Amino acid sequence: MSQTSRLAEEFEHTRSSQPPSTGQDVPPQEQLSNPRTTAPGRRRNDPANRRLGPRIAIGVVVETVRICWWTSLSVVSYLFRQRGGTDRNVRLAIQLRKYLLRMGPLYIKAGQVLGTQSGLLSKEATDEFRSFFADLPPMSERALRQVLDNNLPKPPDEIFESFDWQPIAVGSVAQVHRAALRGDAQQTVAVKVVKAGVRERLAASSWVLGRLLVLGHWLAPRLRKFELPALFAEIQPILVGQCDMTQEAERQREVIENFRDHPFLRVPEVYLDLSGESVLVMQFMEGDRGYDYERMEASRRIQLASRLQDIFNCMVYFHGLFHVDPHPGNIMFGSAGEIILLDFGLVGRLTEDDKWNLAAFYYACVRQQWELGAERYTRAFVEDPGILTAAGSEYPRELEAILKRHFRDETSRWSTVAFFDDATRLLRRNGARASTRFSLLALSLLTGEGFVSQVDPEIDIWNNARKFTDRFSPYLSDELKMQFDVEIGDRIPRSLEMKETASAYLVAPTHLDRFFLPSTYPLIIREAYGSKIRDVDGNEYIDLSCGYGPHILGYAHPCIIEATQRAMAAGAINALGSPSELLLAQQISEAFGTDRKVVFCNSGTEAVQIALRMARARTGRQRVAKFEGHYHGFSDQGMISSWFRYSGEASAPAAIANSAGVQRSVIDETLVLQYGDLSSIDRIRRHADEIACVILEPMPAALAQFDRPFLQALRDTCTRHGIQLIFDEVVSGFRVHYGGVQHLVDIEPDLTCLGKIIGGGLPCGAVVGRPDTVDMARTTRDPFLDVETRAFVGGTMSGNSITAAAGSAALGYLRENPQIYPELLRKTQWLTREMKLTAMQLGVPCIIKANSAIFSVTFGYATPRIVRDRLVGSNIKANLALAYYLRAHGVYMPELHTMMLSTAHSDADLACIANAFAQSVARMVTDGFFTA
Ligand code: PLP
Repeated sequence: MSQTSRLAEEFEHTRSSQPPSTGQDVPPQEQLSNPRTTAPGRRRNDPANRRLGPRIAIGVVVETVRICWWTSLSVVSYLFRQRGGTDRNVRLAIQLRKYLLRMGPLYIKAGQVLGTQSGLLSKEATDEFRSFFADLPPMSERALRQVLDNNLPKPPDEIFESFDWQPIAVGSVAQVHRAALRGDAQQTVAVKVVKAGVRERLAASSWVLGRLLVLGHWLAPRLRKFELPALFAEIQPILVGQCDMTQEAERQREVIENFRDHPFLRVPEVYLDLSGESVLVMQFMEGDRGYDYERMEASRRIQLASRLQDIFNCMVYFHGLFHVDPHPGNIMFGSAGEIILLDFGLVGRLTEDDKWNLAAFYYACVRQQWELGAERYTRAFVEDPGILTAAGSEYPRELEAILKRHFRDETSRWSTVAFFDDATRLLRRNGARASTRFSLLALSLLTGEGFVSQVDPEIDIWNNARKFTDRFSPYLSDELKMQFDVEIGDRIPRSLEMKETASAYLVAPTHLDRFFLPSTYPLIIREAYGSKIRDVDGNEYIDLSCGYGPHILGYAHPCIIEATQRAMAAGAINALGSPSELLLAQQISEAFGTDRKVVFCNSGTEAVQIALRMARARTGRQRVAKFEGHYHGFSDQGMISSWFRYSGEASAPAAIANSAGVQRSVIDETLVLQYGDLSSIDRIRRHADEIACVILEPMPAALAQFDRPFLQALRDTCTRHGIQLIFDEVVSGFRVHYGGVQHLVDIEPDLTCLGKIIGGGLPCGAVVGRPDTVDMARTTRDPFLDVETRAFVGGTMSGNSITAAAGSAALGYLRENPQIYPELLRKTQWLTREMKLTAMQLGVPCIIKANSAIFSVTFGYATPRIVRDRLVGSNIKANLALAYYLRAHGVYMPELHTMMLSTAHSDADLACIANAFAQSVARMVTDGFFTA
């Protein structure tokens, strides 16, 4: 196969590549924001479409002549003027600038990138490039009028009260005009218009350049190592794709959404109804041009540079939708320190998996695990990594050396660009190359970091970047760790010593050895009373965990102690019926309706397993539909897309295991949905014949809010298609209401899973529902029929008398004291209001979500709409650190879990927590957690 056709095929492959099959109906992943993938009707710009239209074909001929003519003329002219007095570099830059300008939009874009790079050319030469864009020629007024006439929904006069025909900015592809809309407000708008003929010119240039590069590749062996055709094939589609304003408008709206409520980033709102393929009408924003940074005061430049970097990193590492072209022409600075970002013609995307891989790579590097870092880099970012790992290859050692240099020796001069450069060169030497997405990322950072360093040449890029790259490691800095070692570590020597000893014989994944970001200062608790816990070192803390939920009455509540002591003394009955088992069943049954039935087990995890089995038995179907980010315990099924790793598009997530050892078939049999997204309902419908049940947390604990219309739509769909609807109310059951969320929304599922509170602090789980569903676990009295049609449920300790006694004491107390729920609500509202106020006064971006007696705190500006958003923009390190700062003030916050209050929390406790929060956050501000 020829190199050209291999490249063409490779390119096609890149465009159409899909995530590995998981049995999901995930649509093809959009790798880059490529207009053609979503607008099949408009294929004329499609760079991959090798059949040229007649206009482009003529353009190709003209283009070829133009390239030959201007290239030779420029070379001769440069050589001829060699003896002039100006600096050689500047002469070269001037010549190159003129050359690129004549060559058209594709080449001008290359010049824009060069102009942002301080390190590549001399300062004078870079300045020469930077002035480049002030001089770009606009199209004629006649051509402009024609484009407007053809693209606006109405004649321009009917839309605009006034239109300034003199452009305020002229780029390589489009120009921007100021105008005022008709109407009472006479809103000032910016109108971006694609220059006439640019679309065809771009297509022709890229067609010709692509072939010239292939030719050069074959004729000049010394060029081969640069893999120019392959590189060009990667960026060509986005370069050409910049001309479609309809697509740009969509991307711009997406970015606006991602940055909604951001403290300092502004993106102009789009007038979609006025925009078309060649015209984009948007809000007009005032500000200093990006190029004007040199005239600004040093302090303003320092702030703006740090904010710029923050924005670029946020787009890459959190949103996964980044500006590929953040050169100064696309940036403005507001008078109050705002950054205004413009022009979303070129954007790149990272999938959830990319973001995960990027985080994993940085994590290894920050911990100086070079071998692991090199392996993660290669696995995640290299196209066809197989060739690099052949026996005897020096590649791994060489990559490790690069990592060491950049992540250890030169962090004070950190440059992502320099790192990418070294790594890319190594790949080329070994006949490999970075993947498309990674190349785009490199291009974005090349431009963005280059500009940031021009605005503030002293900026510590590495230190700023760590907030993003390093977010899965708990500390901002080693200094802070040393501080915590004294303030917290020194106060819990026995806990730390016992934990150390216990490591030899105990693995405790839920607390001491937490999987994700294990606690550095784990507590060993000797005793707990009411709202307080006391550790083995004698420190007392106000507890905000409630043991992850069960202790709604506080620790060691007298009614529970008395009931368990009595049950213990009466012989701790299990595997035989006991009155307390019957009583608890009756209490639960009554809480959920008149004829509800209950099956007991020992945990929430078991309750979920039982419910799923019942649903499968009843429907005869296999698949389970569940929601991303909803945790249902630690069974194989519970571990699918439930916690910190997600995959696929937000609206159609792919199933991914959050643990090793999960059965492959369970992943394949799970359909992962997005809560609150109506396309989830569609997906259920499409797979209805295979789905046994839909399971969800009706109020996802991570978000502490529910969506009633969505729950109703789910209920209706499940009913229509004979699918069992399962509410997992293990956390919310008896916490938000006597019963659960289903009582608040008045929607009844087929089965409800319970746990936590119904055991009064002892291990317990239950499934409750109508007889027709729960009787799936009841014998038919025909053993042969049972095996074929009934779901078997076991459990030596299920319904044991001690747990049941504790549980029924707790439920009895809650039943007799209904004021508990409004009281808990009042307390939660008071506390969270105080916290919000504190954060606001300190200017800290902080989202506090609360519902009944459940609340959560995250540091970020955007209110998460879906669980996956909690990672987007949220400052996890700040969250972890808050737990330790609070600890120093005598408050225990479960580091990554939602927080809960109990009836034992007094108003004095709450005041104490509010005060601890205020002091902690104030110190976090001084310690630099929220700078940018
Ligand atoms: N379901 C939900 C919603 C949960 O939050 C949990 C645990 O936190 C479980 C199920 C699993 O319960 P358990 O830890 O008792 O097994």
